[in-house]
Amino acid sequence: MSSLRFKVVEEAFKKKAREVVAPGTLTSEYYGKYVFDRKQMSKYLSKDTLKAICDVVDKGETLDRELANHVAAGMKLWAIEMGATHYTHWFQPLTEGTAEKHDSFIEYAGDPGGDIIEEFSGKILAQQEPDASSFPNGGIRNTFEARGYTAWDPSSPAFIVGDTLCIPTVFISYTGEALDYKTPLLKALNTIDKAATDVCKMFDPKVKKVISYLGWEQEYFLVDEGLYAARPDLLLTGRTLMGHESAKNQQLDDHYFGSIPERVLAYMRDLEFEAYKYKIPLKTRHNEVAPNQFELAPIFGEMNLSVDQNLLVMSLMKSIARKHGFRVLLHEKPFDGVNGSGKHNNWSLGTDTGVGLLTPGKTPEENLQFITFLVNVLMAVHKHNGLLKASIMTAQNEHRLGAHEAPPAIISVFLGSQISAVLDKLEMSESEEAIVLDSKKKMRLGVAHIPEVLVDNTDRNRTSPFAFTGNRFEFRAVGSSANCSSAMIALTSVVAAQLKEFKQEVDSQIAFGVSREKAIFNVLKHYIKESKPIRFDGNGYSEDWKKEAQQRGLDCETSVPLMYDRYTTKESIEMFAGVGVFTEKELHARNEVKWETYTKKIQIEARVLGDLATNHVVPVATRYMSLLLDNVYKLRLVYGLEKAEQLSANDEALIAELSERISQIRVNVEKMVEARKCANKLPDEREKAIAYHDNVLPYFDIVRDNLDRLELIVDDEMWPLPKYRELLFIR
Ligand code: ADP
Ligand code: MG
Repeated sequence: MSSLRFKVVEEAFKKKAREVVAPGTLTSEYYGKYVFDRKQMSKYLSKDTLKAICDVVDKGETLDRELANHVAAGMKLWAIEMGATHYTHWFQPLTEGTAEKHDSFIEYAGDPGGDIIEEFSGKILAQQEPDASSFPNGGIRNTFEARGYTAWDPSSPAFIVGDTLCIPTVFISYTGEALDYKTPLLKALNTIDKAATDVCKMFDPKVKKVISYLGWEQEYFLVDEGLYAARPDLLLTGRTLMGHESAKNQQLDDHYFGSIPERVLAYMRDLEFEAYKYKIPLKTRHNEVAPNQFELAPIFGEMNLSVDQNLLVMSLMKSIARKHGFRVLLHEKPFDGVNGSGKHNNWSLGTDTGVGLLTPGKTPEENLQFITFLVNVLMAVHKHNGLLKASIMTAQNEHRLGAHEAPPAIISVFLGSQISAVLDKLEMSESEEAIVLDSKKKMRLGVAHIPEVLVDNTDRNRTSPFAFTGNRFEFRAVGSSANCSSAMIALTSVVAAQLKEFKQEVDSQIAFGVSREKAIFNVLKHYIKESKPIRFDGNGYSEDWKKEAQQRGLDCETSVPLMYDRYTTKESIEMFAGVGVFTEKELHARNEVKWETYTKKIQIEARVLGDLATNHVVPVATRYMSLLLDNVYKLRLVYGLEKAEQLSANDEALIAELSERISQIRVNVEKMVEARKCANKLPDEREKAIAYHDNVLPYFDIVRDNLDRLELIVDDEMWPLPKYRELLFIR
């Protein structure tokens, strides 16, 4: 009966790597081919238009309709030459991934019914109205006034996918609230630019702009398409809801950095070739720790662009995997008992003068600036550690955090011994020696020397959710399927707010007659003391750490629905309002969306688990039990009761266990359904999500435990679903 399983396993084994041909001898020949970047713009726009649009992007100047018309005309020409027939506003709703609605370029030239022309005006480029009622909005837009609009983000270049010109846009309600990730991200980037520039000016008046950088590392699993299709749980939820651990999984650590399997390598090459056409600078590819787990990472870039590139890569990964007979799993925890997938967000700030603000300086002046930024980051993460955790919490990431080599659900910062030593020295020192003026009246760090190569930061502590890695912070708790913006909006906002506060505190001391060096020193010293609880260089996976973190007052909540409350605390509301990123109304509305999404995910998983148990496993286990019973019966016929009793002892024990497991499954699936019904009756989204978390989710483990035990004892020939060893080792 399990013929499907054996058929797909057999087919998967036979699959060969697809041949992949490079689009050019050199990558630089076709790099950015599908992107309307400045190079293309210079071919399709007049000099004045090009300069004007660049000023909009670089200097934040306003974009008028006439300029939009000029850009649209050039963009249309380029797109049509590239074979595009349609266009879309490409935006990032609060669901995962991106959304698009395609429209053709055609318009009637004159009278309706007559000839058509290809039309694409500045108006269409700048603004569109998708039928927005079906995107989650947390009640901001009532369905009857389902009006939201998308607006062009010229800082992220348009690109072509297939026959469609894609225009990156923000998505906003008509009452002005953000319905997406891009709007608040752009606001946060703008604020941190101002706040950080003000702080930089204390050290170097030449700085005019501070840029936020992001380099993401995307982890993922590949599973053969046939095997995937034979697993309803993978197909519908992106993860396995059952499956006994394979005899071998990652114990031998033989996958990490091992040679990449051929079929997978073909897929990776194909993906890279495509990504390069979109100007996505993929740099690294390798096997990850778990079998069939891999990672790719680009060279870091400006944050808004980098986020868009990640979203585009995730969609390219999905479509190219299919070409190679794979399905890509972006879920944070597709398999129990093996590593989950994260998306480390490497984050830093840099000035327009080319100085990395999180890079130890070449000079003592730069080092003071570096320490200032580092300490402010510590302070921000310390104050808002609960919020930062909330920013990465989802129904999927919940299974990854704190399990199998993933950071725990507690945010702490790893600094390494050298940087820690510098902070300790500052904390212990007197102001006169800490920050000194040199002959040119420039401030510099007087207390300590920071070596250029940070020894222990190259061999970093992998257990920290937020680690300083030499020239950047690595936010490791971010989940593999997430839009990086969620984490980056929170991080950028808290750091911006912190930098503003720092500047105010220093200024107010100066106003009271304290020297600038001393004022900076006083505030930094105070911050170093106050933010101490967030610093932790030890083993984040240990049980002891959980206890200690609690004592230190760090946020140790693990329930996802409750974590979302961190967005609407008094401190968070004030902080987000202060940096102009979210209004209180938006925060409440977005939480509604998060709770609703959480509930839906658990609801779907519960249904699928019920189906797997009731319709896939129990019937097979029952059939196997009946085979065993048949055997017992026949033994009795042939050998008589007494002898048969001996001979069938094993069978009978097995029958008893099968029967017990089956009834456990039935009872608990029933209870799970009841718990769902009760939860569904709750009118409040938050209460409902909490009920799903507290009352529905616990049945998953109980049911699964019984299913997995059945997998171990039922005849392998009869087992209908591809097993872990097949999903994880066939490639
Ligand atoms: P590892 O696995 O050792 O952490 P990877 O090379 O896989 O390193 O990924 C590191 C990521 O960090 C890359 O995307 C890289 O471009 C990025 N990165 C490096 N320096 C910075 C920086 N200063 N700011 C932001 N991202 C950075
Ligand atoms: Mg890394």
